[in-house]
Amino acid sequence: MSRRIGRLQWALALAALVLAACGPTPRERAIGALTPAKMTAATAPAPDARPPLRFRIYADARWQAQKGDWVRAAEAMVEQASGIAQFEFGVGFVVERVAPWPEPGPNDDLGDRLDALAAHDPGEAGVWVVGLVGGVPVASSDFDQIGLARLAGRHFVMRSMADVSEADAIGSIDVLDDRDRRALLRARIEHRRAVVFVHEWAHTMGALHVRDFGVVMAATYSGRIKGFGALSQALIRETLGAGPDANADAAAELVARREAALAWYRGHPDAKVDPVERAAFVDGVQRAPASAPPRRGSMTRAQVDAAMKAGQVSAVLAAAAGFTPESQASLSEWARTTRRRFAMPVGFPAADEGDYVAAQRSVDAALSAGDMALAESRIAEIEARWPEAAAGPQLRCDFEGRQGRFEAARALCRRATELHEESVGAWLMLGMIALHTRKPAEAAPILERVIALDARQTPAWVYLGRTYTALGRTADREALEARFTEATGEPWPE
Ligand SMILES: [Zn+2]
Repeated sequence: MSRRIGRLQWALALAALVLAACGPTPRERAIGALTPAKMTAATAPAPDARPPLRFRIYADARWQAQKGDWVRAAEAMVEQASGIAQFEFGVGFVVERVAPWPEPGPNDDLGDRLDALAAHDPGEAGVWVVGLVGGVPVASSDFDQIGLARLAGRHFVMRSMADVSEADAIGSIDVLDDRDRRALLRARIEHRRAVVFVHEWAHTMGALHVRDFGVVMAATYSGRIKGFGALSQALIRETLGAGPDANADAAAELVARREAALAWYRGHPDAKVDPVERAAFVDGVQRAPASAPPRRGSMTRAQVDAAMKAGQVSAVLAAAAGFTPESQASLSEWARTTRRRFAMPVGFPAADEGDYVAAQRSVDAALSAGDMALAESRIAEIEARWPEAAAGPQLRCDFEGRQGRFEAARALCRRATELHEESVGAWLMLGMIALHTRKPAEAAPILERVIALDARQTPAWVYLGRTYTALGRTADREALEARFTEATGEPWPE
C-alpha cells in the first residue's frame, strides 16, 4: 500500500497522543496493534477429509546458509501453511522431501528460477514443487516481489524475507519489554511466512489477486490478513475438487485444474479479482503453454507488471490499449492513483517517470531505515533534478515531521500541495500534523480530502475517525465506519 504514509513512528506518536486518555494501557495497545491477525476461515471446510497434498522443497545454497537448521526451517514453514490450508480447505500439506537445490548461477530473476525449478523437478500428480531462493532478503510487502508461482500449475518459488523490518517495527516501541518483543517477533515472522507460502500455492490452484486487502490473495502482504475470504476460498475449493488426483497423469491433472478455474471465473464475472489478470487468464492462458505468459497488445502481462512496479504510468497506459475495456478502466484507475501517490501530475515527462518513482522509493527506504543523512542527500538529488516537482517538498515534509519539526513540515507539505494539488501524501501528513498539534477542526477537511483522492489510504480513515471523536462528532464517526466498509469491503481497521 502506501509507501509514503502510515509510518509507524508517526502513527505511534499520534496514537499515543490521541488514545492516551482512556482504555487499555499503551503496552496493551501496542501489542494489539502489532499482533498479526489470527487466521480464520470464512466458512468451515467440507467435512470429507482429503489425503494431504505433498510438497517437495528445494533450497538453494544461499537459502540454506541463511537458516540455522535449514531442513527444519523449511518443514516448519510448511507446517504453518498446512494449518491454514487445513481450516480453509480441509486439506493438509505434508513435506515429501527437503533437498538442496543446485543454484543455476548468480541469477536472482524469479521467473528464471521458476523455469529452472520446473526443469529440475517437473513434479507429478498430487505433488507440488517449491524452490527457496536465498540471497539478499526482500523487505517488500508486495507478494510478487517475494514469490512467483505458475498459475494453475504445480511450481512456485519464494525468496528469503527480511525479518529485520519486523524487528524494527517492534524494536522502536518503548512500552514493550523484551519478552513482549520476542513473542511478537516470532508471531509476525511465522504469520508472514505461512501467508506467503499459501498465497503462492493458491496461485497454483488458479487463484488470482483480489481487489481487497486483509485477505491472502491481496497483492500486498499485511499482518492483518486473517484468511482467504469467501471469494478465493470458493474458487480453490472448486479447483481442489478437480485434483490433485494421484492416479491421474501429471499433465491431465493440470489440465483439469485449469479447466476448473476457467469455468469458475467464467461463472463469476463479478468477482472482485484483478481484471487484468482475469483477462490474461481467461482469454490467454488456456491457449498458451503453461510455461509462457500470455501476450496481450504490445506488452506481455509480465512486462505490464514490471512497468507498473516501476511506476511507468505512460507505458502502462499505452499498453492498456491492447486490453479489454474492463482492464483498461482498471489500468487507468491504477495510473490515476499512482500519479497521486507519487506526486506526478499529468504532463510529467514520460521518460522520467521510472526514475522519479525510484528516487522517491529510495528516500523512503532511507527514512524507514532511519538513515537521515542518506535520506537528506537523496532528497537533495530529487530537488536538483526536478526542482518544480512536488516530490521534493513532500519528502522533506516527511523528513522534518519524523524529527518532530511540525511547523517546518507543515510549510513543506503546503508547498507540495501548491505544486501538485493531488499530492495525497502531502495532504495526509498535513492532516496528521493538524491532529498532532491539536487542531482537529483543521484536520477534518484535510483528511476528508485524502480519502476523496485515494480511498485506499487506510491511515487517513483512522485519523479522520479520531478527529471526529476529538470534535465530538459521534454521528459522523459512525457514518465514517460505514463509508469505509462500503469503499473498501473491509471492517473498520481499529
Ligand atoms: Zn501473488
